[in-house]
Amino acid sequence: MDRERLTELLRGRAQPSYRAQQIWEWVARGASGYEEMTNLPGELRSLLARELPLSTLELIEESKADDGTVKALFRTHDGHPVEAVLMRFRDGRRSICLSSQSGCPLVCTFCATGSMRFYRNLTADEILDQALHFRRLAPLSHAVFMGMGEPMLNLDAVLAACQRLPDLGITARRTTVSTVGWLPGIPRFTAEPSRLRLALSLHAPNDELRDELVPSNERYPLRDVLAACRADVATRKQKVFIEYVMLAGVNDTDEQARELGTLLDRKAFKINLIPYNPTGSYAGSAPERIDAFQTILRRAGLATTVRLTRGRTIDAACGQLAALVARPDEATRQATPRG
Ligand code: SAH
Repeated sequence: MDRERLTELLRGRAQPSYRAQQIWEWVARGASGYEEMTNLPGELRSLLARELPLSTLELIEESKADDGTVKALFRTHDGHPVEAVLMRFRDGRRSICLSSQSGCPLVCTFCATGSMRFYRNLTADEILDQALHFRRLAPLSHAVFMGMGEPMLNLDAVLAACQRLPDLGITARRTTVSTVGWLPGIPRFTAEPSRLRLALSLHAPNDELRDELVPSNERYPLRDVLAACRADVATRKQKVFIEYVMLAGVNDTDEQARELGTLLDRKAFKINLIPYNPTGSYAGSAPERIDAFQTILRRAGLATTVRLTRGRTIDAACGQLAALVARPDEATRQATPRG
């Protein structure tokens, strides 16, 4: 919901200042229309229904997988694609995957979002509206910024949205911000006092391979990025998650597992191996390869898990749905920003 517009509207109608908070509390608890907000005067409810859409985002398409995963594709008021996913797990967790940007200016070679255009940063309200959409479907427990975009390139809006997520039932400790390793953002993230969690998309045990898969690595090499992550661990007293997408024959050999084991210290990092959701240019590692890789890391003393695969049947990998829908003439790659 556009909270600035709401404040203006309420001010224009000389409404008491607590109204905005009342309305927020309703939407944060999953209200899907102003008519539900029974502690507002009827006239105000009709006015809001006429003047202010409940969401800044328009739902374009929604797909549901058998495992309960729901993927939503939205459009911003100026026509840009945004996608978000709800994942339900057997242990009761309900985790949402949020986008911080429409498209992404970075061009990680295996990522579907990297192959589409970068449109713009999302506002805090546009980020929250993704979460609110799913809050209308189910109570939520966790959030990860692993949808479209690089959160550290839009950190103010991401942090502003994170501050509001607890009202939806998602605490800071259960909110994970995932970065490609965009160095300038990390110390600012670390300085944020709430106990948000940091995840680093690593995908390679050395600069040579990482330069290839994650071009922004040329600008911010591993040593510096890992040092910033260790500083986050030291400040927050909680480990940083390492995401590692398993690409067959690219980054999944025994030797690479050993190299990763030496690169990462077990006191600071936990590794999550991600089965690749094929989006074109690579093949995912076979399950046995992932197991072998995990065993080597565990022997090196590193807490290592393999991510449960959700929503395969609905193209729930980062950027997949939006990339399909984006018009072909807009699907041209944009270079990594340099400067
Ligand atoms: N820019 C941020 C957040 C978005 S990507 C970052 O890089 O961390 C979130 C995660 O999804 C990243 O770890 C990315 O590598 C992973 N990912 C992207 N495409 C994928 C795919 N096709 N299959 C599995 N994981 C993918």
